[in-house]
Amino acid sequence: MRKLAILGSTGSIGTQALQVAALHADRYQVTALVARSSYTLFFEQVRAFRPRLAGLVVRPDAIPDDLKQIEWVFGEEALTFAAEHADADDVLVSVVGIAGLSAVMKALQSGKRVLLANKEPLVAGGALVTEAARRAGKPLLPVDSEHSAIFQCLQGAQGNTPRRLLLTASGGPFRTWQKRDIYRATKAQALKHPNWSMGQKITIDSATMMNKALEVIEARWLFDMPTEKIDVLVHPQSVVHSMVEYEDGAVIAQMGTPDMRLPILYAMSWPERLATGGQALDWSQIGALTFEAPDTDKFPALNLAYAALKAGGTAAAVMNGANEAAVQAFLEDRICFGRIAQVVEETMQRISVVHSPSLEEVFEADQAARAAAQELLA
Ligand code: NAD
Ligand code: MG
Repeated sequence: MRKLAILGSTGSIGTQALQVAALHADRYQVTALVARSSYTLFFEQVRAFRPRLAGLVVRPDAIPDDLKQIEWVFGEEALTFAAEHADADDVLVSVVGIAGLSAVMKALQSGKRVLLANKEPLVAGGALVTEAARRAGKPLLPVDSEHSAIFQCLQGAQGNTPRRLLLTASGGPFRTWQKRDIYRATKAQALKHPNWSMGQKITIDSATMMNKALEVIEARWLFDMPTEKIDVLVHPQSVVHSMVEYEDGAVIAQMGTPDMRLPILYAMSWPERLATGGQALDWSQIGALTFEAPDTDKFPALNLAYAALKAGGTAAAVMNGANEAAVQAFLEDRICFGRIAQVVEETMQRISVVHSPSLEEVFEADQAARAAAQELLA
């Protein structure tokens, strides 16, 4: 039995993680659950899985009587408290944004293995997170589908270093749109992802292609690869989840239906493979698989990742913080779609980089980026 804590259990990733944990209840015991405020769903999850520890960031008026014998923790520190004190082997971090960074660090520092869906902590604090994992002697297990795919493609590497990582991208809902139409796209249009059903923040990031920018940085840290060896390829069918190219030109790909239960469960069961409850690909129904270079004129966010990696230090934390602020402003109808990437770029130009930052300096950079972005958003 592996003991699993889930931070962000009521979200898209969290609920699917609980599905696969329930499917393999003989192997996984859910010992801690934390969410922000979706009380009804959260209480149902706690009732069904009976964790020892349950946490809510926003305190509810009351806890149902039948759940009172469980240990409860409330407030902003619920995440870090559970990361540190849960009786768990593995912590799945599936909250949104840099909010997960302290929890990732606490989980690693207390000797737990981290299954990482929450990409923003690695973008903002990549050097610190990978160093903490190295010290803990634990692999960081990727849940993001592209990174899980690359991790799977590397299983047979036998010590060979890849020549190139090829991150695939669906291209999002605006792939075939004209630039001026993308600029004025509405929230409803941006929230309609062609292939995946995900939380709002990552869905907007997919529409701007900032998601792929975040993923380039994520790949840099997870696989310790130099930036120039990480390429992005648009693949609208989302069947090839990413690829690894070796020195002899051989390309190994991981393919499957777009179903997050596979990368979630692979992180939980690695190196074993277990049934996910999902459908296998029907190859006779796929038709053509197509690939094209990303259009960085229409989707300028992608270039920002390479600029941030080149600048180093806190540049990626600034990019991420500005993007979190801009996406929130877009979701609150305060800016138009095209402003998101512009605000991120302008924020990056305003804030100077701190090299080899401490955790505090990463959070300071994040705060400075949000403040600068708010001025630009006003
Ligand atoms: P979501 O919005 O559906 O769910 C977020 C979960 O985290 C909810 O349970 C919410 O209550 C909780 N939460 C949010 N902010 C919190 C905070 N400050 N403190 C505590 N709990 C908080 O998001 P999602 O789509 O599941 O994505 C989660 C993370 O996984 C993101 O970083 C995203 O980029 C990444 N990811 C998601 C997918 C996907 O298919 N959804 C794929 C790849 C990567
Ligand atoms: Mg992804």
